[in-house]
Amino acid sequence: MTGLAFVHQASQTRVVFAPGSLSRLGDEAGRLNLERVLVLSTVQQIRHAEQAGAALGARLAGTFAGAAMHTPVEVTNEAFALVRKTQADGLLAIGGGSAIGLAKALALRTDLPQIVVPTTYAGSEATPILGETKEGLKTTQRSMKVLPEVILYDVELTLSLPVALSVSSGLNAIAHAAEALYAEDRNPLIQVMAEEAVRVLAAALPQIHAQPSNVAARSEALYGAWLCGTCLGAVGMALHHKICHTLGGTFGLPHAETHAVMLPHALAYNLPAAREAGQRLSRALNGQDPALALFRLARSLGPPSALRDLGMPQNALDQATDLATQNAYANPRPIERTEIRAMLARAWSGDSPADWGFSAAAHAAE
Ligand code: NAD
Repeated sequence: MTGLAFVHQASQTRVVFAPGSLSRLGDEAGRLNLERVLVLSTVQQIRHAEQAGAALGARLAGTFAGAAMHTPVEVTNEAFALVRKTQADGLLAIGGGSAIGLAKALALRTDLPQIVVPTTYAGSEATPILGETKEGLKTTQRSMKVLPEVILYDVELTLSLPVALSVSSGLNAIAHAAEALYAEDRNPLIQVMAEEAVRVLAAALPQIHAQPSNVAARSEALYGAWLCGTCLGAVGMALHHKICHTLGGTFGLPHAETHAVMLPHALAYNLPAAREAGQRLSRALNGQDPALALFRLARSLGPPSALRDLGMPQNALDQATDLATQNAYANPRPIERTEIRAMLARAWSGDSPADWGFSAAAHAAE
């Protein structure tokens, strides 16, 4: 049988997407019957946390502005103590994946409802995934307990996201959609979302780069980020995410920038074995070779385009290859050590991705 067959688990999360929607926070908390909400942010976004507190009014129980990248368990323990002290009955995270990761870690321990207000394009708000770091080791788990009850997207809060971070965060988001297109457990709904996500983000990022206060472009990017996060939450990721996780965890490379560098190379590796994904990506990128188009896009927008510029030592390439090729995981193309080593070497130097045999005619939309 070659007929269509798939499983899709729809998310229960309520999504409110509108400029200025932060002002609806009190109403959203009311819908959940929350009376004592703890606001979570990084120290850099204390002003956003104050805005959220003001929008919550009498429902504000306290603020914890100590969220950190990769959700360190010590930080979670500190925030957990404040949950107890303030007798919070709900959590409000405002910020990127760091603030949202903290809310998820607390929800896992307390079952408290979460409202999250994302201000980057990382997409964590739409996934049941939680990564936590303990004694330098990052582990990831999936649990429906960490999925937020409400996501509130307010484009106005993203206007202050620095351009460089906007670009790398947007490319990080595109990586979720790109890998969803060849995920083993992909389904037609996710494929439509992923293609649309790549199309809107690839179009919006150059506009944001040219004019960071462009609300229409910021809105499109945020919409794309929601789609990308939904893809990440719904299906399994492959080689690209595995490598980025490894490089981030073992060599301390920055999260979004590592994704931005690796994506064109991972696609050049995988697309020969993922024909439909290549067609959809090409269609989303105006008929271009997806690997080359994303390489050029990243180059033109200025985030680092080489692993060496992110601080990875050249003599770590063998170790990175070992880590990327051990522990079997689903991937459209078999993991071949020599090829993976060559791919990492290209990414380290900042060379363009390998020529994988893209042909505009062969990959034209059917
Ligand atoms: P981040 O949350 O660490 O934000 C980076 C910096 O930018 C922080 O200082 C933050 O306060 C600041 N910032 C964020 N938005 C801003 C804005 N609008 N204006 C000004 N400053 C702003 O970075 P991130 O890339 O969003 O998240 C990375 C983290 O999220 C990593 O720990 C990663 O593992 C995790 N993550 C998890 C998932 C998941 O599904 N679990 C998905 C993606 C990322």
